[in-house]
Amino acid sequence: MKDLDRKVAELSKRRGFFSQTAEAYGGVAGFQTFGPEGAELKRNIENSWRAKFSDELGNREIEAPTIMPEAVFEASGHLDTFDDMIVRCPECGESSRADHIVEDNTELDEAEGLSTEKIEELFQEHDLECPECGESLAGEKVEDFHLMFETTIGPDSGNRGYLRPETAQGIFVEFPRFKDYERGQLPFGITQIGKSYRNEISPRKGLVRVRELTQAELEHFIDPEEDRPPMDEVEDVELKLYSRERQSEKGDLQRLTVRESVEEGVIESEWIAYFLGIATEWYRSIGVDMERFRYRQHQNDELSHYASDCWDAEADVSALGEEEDWIEITGFAYRGCYDLKKHHEHSEEDYTVFKEYDEPVEEEVTEVSPDMAFLGPEYGDKAGEIAEALQEKAEENPEAFEQDEIAVEVEGEEYSIPSERCGFERKTVTKNGEHILPHVVEPSFGIDRMVYTILAHSYDEDEVDGEERTVMRFDEEVAPTEVAVFPLMDKEGLGEKAREVADMLRSEGLSVKYDDTGNIGKRYRRQDEVGTPYCVTIDYDTLEEEPETVTVRDRDSTEQERVRIDELAEHLS
Ligand code: AMP
Repeated sequence: MKDLDRKVAELSKRRGFFSQTAEAYGGVAGFQTFGPEGAELKRNIENSWRAKFSDELGNREIEAPTIMPEAVFEASGHLDTFDDMIVRCPECGESSRADHIVEDNTELDEAEGLSTEKIEELFQEHDLECPECGESLAGEKVEDFHLMFETTIGPDSGNRGYLRPETAQGIFVEFPRFKDYERGQLPFGITQIGKSYRNEISPRKGLVRVRELTQAELEHFIDPEEDRPPMDEVEDVELKLYSRERQSEKGDLQRLTVRESVEEGVIESEWIAYFLGIATEWYRSIGVDMERFRYRQHQNDELSHYASDCWDAEADVSALGEEEDWIEITGFAYRGCYDLKKHHEHSEEDYTVFKEYDEPVEEEVTEVSPDMAFLGPEYGDKAGEIAEALQEKAEENPEAFEQDEIAVEVEGEEYSIPSERCGFERKTVTKNGEHILPHVVEPSFGIDRMVYTILAHSYDEDEVDGEERTVMRFDEEVAPTEVAVFPLMDKEGLGEKAREVADMLRSEGLSVKYDDTGNIGKRYRRQDEVGTPYCVTIDYDTLEEEPETVTVRDRDSTEQERVRIDELAEHLS
């Protein structure tokens, strides 16, 4: 099989999975509309994700707005750092991802972390060309391009907002509410499924790089010193790992169990290893081909601004025998306390959690109570800041107070304060706990890429009765149409009976397509192309037999069997 991406795109458009938005007006790159089959497939994937990552793991789902005020992204660091590198062709005017041109045309597998200057050098050195028209791009400027869509909130244009580039910030910014909801008890997880927006430089491959995407994210808040994942649930799950070291050596993947991956130090965080185990089982359950799947660790210079370690789940979406085409479908990032710390510092709210000790502890503290009747007249409006600087010094360097004069710096100027005016003392206090900033472990799934992976991995061609057919071998868990019901033809009561059977199956909660157009063989082919696991045919025997029976055809084997109508729903489910 060749050209899998072209075949998937063609079938998707023809059979209602997805197609470019507003093609009637020439279309707009990076926006895709899911048709009836695609929307149902996507919904099934989302529901399966929700069942696993929210319900089964005991996490709670929230829904935040897709537009957020600028302050949120100023704090999160997205305003400063959420860029990709762009190069514009002087000949055809096409804009391209500069790092991707380097990756596609040199030995370098990862160029995202390089500086714009380094990329310009590589363009010169390899005389790289515009992927659109072939013009040389050597000597062209490579610049950072900001990926967030900007908007204004309300009629007064001063209030700038952004379409969120990830659902995660909607969770982080409300952390003070969620920690109260969870009664301050770590660990806990908050999930969200929703739209995010990235003004991608060069959208590609239908659903793989779009400008409006759906993410399913879990933010798991932990106490890094105390909380351990329930490893026994997944310790024997086998992971296919492509570590940073293996990538540098251009080595092979390692197959390790979750437990081994931690014990051998390949995955540093137990939590990341645990989530890779959980996710592996989930991918398998919805029909990802695990032979075309791996976890790849980020190189240090590839890590996002918030992550200290990250493993991507990647799927190869090429056809068998073609050059491999790995796409990132999920990022598993150890975000540490980066986000909560930023919002704690930038906002007025408290993002810490009070961690109570098992036993109260006695602790020696050092503090000052400066003589303000002396500091005030002596240092005027600087007195308050000097007092604060003295307190800081008392905490950091209490020995300094053994001197006669204590030196502190305020706004670049040094002040010497007589020690008898500082009121320095050491005290023993009883502490019941401390305020900590939780750490965050984040599995972040791209649902559009999951849909694409399922389409690519389910696509198959075979031969039935000497005729070629295309069949989507969807797992029943995600198949968009579960059953198709056909009357042999729409006459002599066959149509009425078939509609009756279709309604009965719908009332049992199945997703059912009724079809009476064209010959039966063509109808089977159409349902094979959208991956319907079962087709039910109503024929003359149905009307004549008692009890009534129908033919049930299996998509994969194409075998047919007679089933009683009153047992049909149970048989199918
Ligand atoms: P990131 O925050 O970049 O790690 O993205 C998290 C997940 O979102 C990725 O693993 C992808 O599956 C998905 N994703 C990111 N950008 C896009 C995009 N432009 N189009 C489709 N999916 C995307």
